[in-house]
Amino acid sequence: MKDCLFCKIANKEIESDIVFESDKVMVFKDVSPVAPVHLLVIPKKHISSIMEIDKMDGPEIEGMMKTIVSMASDLGLEKDGFRIVTNIGDNGGQSVGHLHFHILGKRKFVWPPG
Ligand code: AMP
Repeated sequence: MKDCLFCKIANKEIESDIVFESDKVMVFKDVSPVAPVHLLVIPKKHISSIMEIDKMDGPEIEGMMKTIVSMASDLGLEKDGFRIVTNIGDNGGQSVGHLHFHILGKRKFVWPPG
């Protein structure tokens, strides 16, 4: 989608620190990390938030979820625990209107979140 930051990252119009890429999914490092591990997992196709998940088919959703799990596994996050976050809208704290999952790890997180 024109003017979408993460579409531009997916299309490589804007540079990012890519950790993994398939034809449908990209994983890159968050530019302002809030934890020692802070990755963003996005579908390359424009979806504004998880509320538009119907725009993805079953295999696309499965591929995205399995990418999150394999990233966390490869980084050894499971043993100590970690967090997966997707923010939705203003109250959720979403600042980029393209579906993304934060993978946050290697430090302790509090609950409830701020
Ligand atoms: P959210 O607030 O949940 O929408 O998350 C958006 C995330 O994108 C924030 O954690 C930002 O630090 C991150 N971000 C913004 N611009 C970039 C960029 N150019 N490359 C990587 N991460 C970015």
